[in-house]
Order: sequence, then structure tokens, then C-alpha cells
Amino acid sequence: MRVLITNDDGIASPGLQALVGAFDPVGETFVVAPERERSATGHAITLHKPLRAHGVAIPGSAARAWATNGTPADCVALGIIELLPAKPEVVLSGINVGPNVARDLTYSGTVSGAMEGAIFGVPSIAVSVGSFRNPTFSVAAAFAVELARAILLHGLPEDTLLNVNVPNLPPDRIAGVAITRQSAKRFISRMEKRVDPRGRTYYWLTGDPSPVEDLEGTDTWALTHNHISVTPITLDMTDDRAAAAMRTWDLAWRPVSGA
Ligand code: MN
Repeated sequence: MRVLITNDDGIASPGLQALVGAFDPVGETFVVAPERERSATGHAITLHKPLRAHGVAIPGSAARAWATNGTPADCVALGIIELLPAKPEVVLSGINVGPNVARDLTYSGTVSGAMEGAIFGVPSIAVSVGSFRNPTFSVAAAFAVELARAILLHGLPEDTLLNVNVPNLPPDRIAGVAITRQSAKRFISRMEKRVDPRGRTYYWLTGDPSPVEDLEGTDTWALTHNHISVTPITLDMTDDRAAAAMRTWDLAWRPVSGA
């Protein structure tokens, strides 16, 4: 299988290298990834300055690889439109260090890398490991290969991509695979207000997870119950329930007379 791999932790991330290592034996692997960390850049793209890519070597891999000054979404677009010899069959984004669950998806560069693949009509998977501390990648990398094979076998609906989160556990402690939905759990954000050495105030965004119980069947629930979480998400952001309700509002455009 022809695979395009990106991430948002940067091309030197061990999570990306683990993913490349897992796909090397099963496919033709191409890497287009940011030259530095671009976590929490969401679906940003580069329009107002040049986008540059230079070839790099991934240790221990035959994969062709490019580092770019762009975002994960830029990397996927550049790879598909320009750098790869043919359209990839699967786009992988990750393995991210730290979970991408609940409201994180809106901010995640990892998820947006996969989302860009879906925009190009390529089946795409975002993969994250559930811990920032001492992350291990072997389970996530092996599962990503299995999932990519399953996608090639079964296909995915148009506009659908998969967001995968893997508990940071040894293989024998993984309880199973759960097809989940995105949790509504959010961070309680706060701004740390500090003073710099020149006497000026600055702010640093931080926060803690809300103390809300994880609902069964959600991505956060799966991780806390040692399950690999697979959430199918879609590019279509339309809220059909709200649209149906709003059609009863009798909204109309009434031109102001004389205007
Ligand atoms: Mn990241």
C-alpha cells in the first residue's frame, strides 16, 4: 500500500518514526512532516509566505521523506499535489504524543493532517497515544497498520476519517478496541498571568480537564478503560437537528422599503 505519513510533533518525533517503521515492511512509505513542532495549529494552512520542502533521511527507513516549514494540513496537500509520485491509498497522521479526544479535535494539528487527507478523498487516520509522559508507540503503530489494512478491505464512507487514541500501556494490558463517539468533556481553561523581566504582563494558557464523569462509549471513556478508541468523524459540520428546528422559525429576508 502507498502511504503518506505526517504529524504535528515535527519530523524528528519518535512517534512519527515508529509509524514509519511499522509501515515500512507493508508498503511504500512517504513522509511529509513539519520541520518543527506544530501541535495545536488546527487546520491552519500557509497562504501568505512560501512553502518550502527539503528531503531528509528517516533513521532506519527506506521511506522518502520531506520536512516542510508548513502545518500538517500543508504537508498533506503538498505531498498529494506535488511530492508523491501518485496519490496515496492511505494518509496517516501521528503518532501524536498525548491524546486527541473530546474538544481537542478542534485544535489538533494531528487530526487536521488526517482531515486534509479526507478532503482529497484519501482514507485517513489520525493516531495518538494517550499519555504525554513516557509514551510508548509499539501498540499504536501495529494497530495503525491493522486499521489501514481494514480500511483498504472495507472502505470508508466519503468525507469520513478515523481518529484513533491508544492507551499508553503494554500490549497485554490493552482491554480491546472500542468504536467510540467524541466526548463532550472539556478543559477548564485559565490564563496564567505573569510579569516578564521587563515589567510587562504576559499570559500563558493552561487548564485542567473538567471533573465530569466520562460517558460510556466516548473516546475519553475508552482511554480510561484501557481500550483503543476509534472514532469515525466527518468533514460535514452541518447540524441537521438544528437545521430542522430552525426551519420552523419562519426566518425571512424582508427588504427595508426605500433602501
Ligand atoms: Mn502534537
